[in-house]
Amino acid sequence: MRKITIIGGGQSGLQLGLGLLKNGHQVRIVQNRTAEDIAAGKVMSSQCMFHTAVQNERDLGIDFWSDTCPPVEGINFMVPAPDGSGNKAIDWAGRLEDNAYSVDQRVKIPAWMAEFERLGGTMVIKDASISDLELYSREDDLVIVASGKGEIGQLFQRDAEKSPYEKPMRALALTYVTGMTPRPEHSAVCFNLIPGVGEYFVFPALTVSGPCEIMVFEGVPGGPMDCWGDVKSPEQHLETSKKILDTFLPWEAERCRNIELTDDNGILAGRFPPTVRHPVATLPSGRKVLGLGDAVCLNDPITGQGSNNASKAAAVYLKRILAHGDRAFDEVWMQGTFDAYWDYAQWVVNWTNMMLMPPPPFVLEIMGTACVEPRLAHRMANGFDDPRDFFPWFADPDAASAYLSELKAA
Ligand SMILES: Cc1cc2nc3c(=O)[nH]c(=O)nc-3n(C[C@H](O)[C@H](O)[C@H](O)COP(=O)(O)OP(=O)(O)OC[C@H]3O[C@@H](n4cnc5c(N)ncnc54)[C@H](O)[C@@H]3O)c2cc1C
Repeated sequence: MRKITIIGGGQSGLQLGLGLLKNGHQVRIVQNRTAEDIAAGKVMSSQCMFHTAVQNERDLGIDFWSDTCPPVEGINFMVPAPDGSGNKAIDWAGRLEDNAYSVDQRVKIPAWMAEFERLGGTMVIKDASISDLELYSREDDLVIVASGKGEIGQLFQRDAEKSPYEKPMRALALTYVTGMTPRPEHSAVCFNLIPGVGEYFVFPALTVSGPCEIMVFEGVPGGPMDCWGDVKSPEQHLETSKKILDTFLPWEAERCRNIELTDDNGILAGRFPPTVRHPVATLPSGRKVLGLGDAVCLNDPITGQGSNNASKAAAVYLKRILAHGDRAFDEVWMQGTFDAYWDYAQWVVNWTNMMLMPPPPFVLEIMGTACVEPRLAHRMANGFDDPRDFFPWFADPDAASAYLSELKAA
């Protein structure tokens, strides 16, 4: 039995902690908010998780929501026509082979915290500091920092080679609502790209009061969707959300005639630069700690991959810890553990960072072709579960042209 402390009980920290407990290890999670505070607090994410990530939870017996959470059954990608006619220039939809789900973290995290304690884990409610990390790393075999966007993550040095952007690339906002008209064919992430303005996507989810829809706004900084600074109340937040749709996306506005906020905390606005960090940090004593999830691999939410990544990282780390037996968790093992995850995550990061730039002509051609080529729409929809499948053809004009010719010929 190994003794392991995890700083931060979010998607990655709790999933890993629960996995370790279930495999007989002694685990302490340090969380800076109580379950009650989280449940009664503001929304934190839109957390849409695709099949592989949800399966990681099922494998651990901690997917408590697939029966009650409204499923996301596909991806619908739309671009408005540039002439301002209110028509769509691009519109394709692909079914997911397996449903995706979004369970409000205000529902999931408190339930997982309770499960963690029920299974014998030690939950410490505390905002962990460097001196706490020193103490935990003296007491335990391994300390993992899974603090998300928390300040303590700055302990890990930014990796400039893997982080092309120094500034936030989008002004983000979330609006959790009820009363939206469902998409008629099947449920989907309805992803709208408004060139030069930003992106809007929306999908069904499960929140504290039951089923809802989550509206996600990604405004290009300085543009007309970067408009949350003057919003002072939940009512204004909802009005601003509707106004954006009225202005740019009439078909989405039409679905929103009767929407209401799920609750006054069902809103969020903010921004952050996507950042990859070196995964091993050295404490003043010289002891090493390992980063996990957003603490060391923070993506813009534009591709909806953060919770998926957090789940996949936790699964990789769990496997590596279990395989390590009684040996010391030294720096080489820590770096190797992150590298095993990075083998996968690099593709997610590349794809996500590409999506933050204006789409080059060959990507617009791919998107246009998907409107008339269902196999392409299907492949792109399912790429959200495993973005490695976008490479090389979504990233390289020659590979794109070869793939599109192949599709036309078939
Ligand atoms: C607007 C928005 C929309 C998003 N939409 C999606 C989406 O649709 N799909 C998707 O997959 N991902 C999405 N994400 C990203 C996703 O929410 C995160 O990537 C995911 O939650 C990361 O998990 P984590 O465990 O690394 O960190 P978190 O879930 O952030 O957990 C970190 C935990 O550590 C705690 N903590 C921090 N510092 C300390 C400290 N010093 N001591 C103790 N505890 C501490 C925090 O309070 C928190 O509980 C979105 C994010 C945003 C902002």
